[in-house]
Amino acid sequence: MLLREQVPLAAYTTFGIGGPARWFVESTDEDSIVEAVLFARERGIPLFVLGGGSNLLVSDVGFPGLVLRVALTGIDQQEDLFRVAAGEDWDRFVSLAVDRGYGGIECLAGIPGTVGGTPVQNVGAYGQEVSGTIVSVRVLDLHTMTFAELPAVACGFAYRRSIFNSTQRGQFIVTRVDYTLQTHAFPVLSYPDLKRRFHGREDTPSLAEAAAAVREIRHAKGMLLGAGEPDCRSAGSFFKNPVVSQAQYDDLAAQSSSPVPCFAATRGFVKIPAAWLVEHAGFQKGFAMGAAGISSRHTLALINRGGATAAEILDLRDVIVATVEERFGIRLEQEPVWLGPG
Ligand SMILES: Cc1cc2nc3c(=O)[nH]c(=O)nc-3n(C[C@H](O)[C@H](O)[C@H](O)COP(=O)(O)OP(=O)(O)OC[C@H]3O[C@@H](n4cnc5c(N)ncnc54)[C@H](O)[C@@H]3O)c2cc1C
Repeated sequence: MLLREQVPLAAYTTFGIGGPARWFVESTDEDSIVEAVLFARERGIPLFVLGGGSNLLVSDVGFPGLVLRVALTGIDQQEDLFRVAAGEDWDRFVSLAVDRGYGGIECLAGIPGTVGGTPVQNVGAYGQEVSGTIVSVRVLDLHTMTFAELPAVACGFAYRRSIFNSTQRGQFIVTRVDYTLQTHAFPVLSYPDLKRRFHGREDTPSLAEAAAAVREIRHAKGMLLGAGEPDCRSAGSFFKNPVVSQAQYDDLAAQSSSPVPCFAATRGFVKIPAAWLVEHAGFQKGFAMGAAGISSRHTLALINRGGATAAEILDLRDVIVATVEERFGIRLEQEPVWLGPG
């Protein structure tokens, strides 16, 4: 186990923001994960599990404990079952699956981060969620210090939610995720942006074409990581789409001078696009507050315009949340994970 001290975390996040980790270790196998956990326990210091840092905002003063970066690699295919180590790059896995002709995750192309990060918030985009293909998640259970394979049904998947980021947050370290993909599959083209992209096409697009289209759409929205793309210094969408009761939606729609968009959620509830709420509360793309801002191509992405501090991002977040709440009575919920001393 190669421990490092006072490691600046900004470089390990897509925001490019954050102070140092008191201790930092990269684990490339399960034994060294156990060793790292025991190290933190012996010293009585907090532990944080890091993947690709793409859904993370790190405090300016950093983290006083041990940051354990999960860097296990390996993709093992047994027919339609793909066993993928948690440290693998998610988008690399999507490309590999699509290249081999397997469907189920083609619309999740271009999402940054690691495979181990995907079950945590049940990553989703353009009509697919990872919960649609995950069969089990291998974890180190920090309560029992044993490895276990959790079947998908035990993971409590819902919109941007699982046991890993809610009821059992902090209990598990994901070391591998098993996905069942479909061979000879047709791409899922249910999302409006994708439907528009292939409108008028007579034959069915291939999985590769669908994945390429998703990447193009993401690029146009500044949601595809790329060198020299300031709109990508973000953690993706900063706010979740709020789920409200049908009655609350009806009240809102009755008071609004323009139609309020919504998508079906669970029975009796609808999901309102957070981007609509933010824009109609008066925040447009490109809005800036010091070095923090809103992406010029995507209203939901708060960005580091260059040299932003975490405090500046939080100030911008607070202004947006308060204004949306005052205007619509809906409190927006933050999507990225906060890592700080408290
Ligand atoms: C440009 C951009 C676009 C994005 N688009 C989308 C999108 O379309 N849909 C979407 O859902 N998300 C999106 N995201 C958010 C992000 O990419 C995903 O949530 C991603 O899965 C996070 O994985 P990560 O490895 O980077 O996790 P990190 O950011 O490193 O960590 C996030 C959380 O997961 C935990 N975690 C990470 N790895 C493990 C592990 N092995 N075991 C236990 N816990 C772990 C961390 O402790 C933390 O709580 C986007 C982000 C960016 C920057």
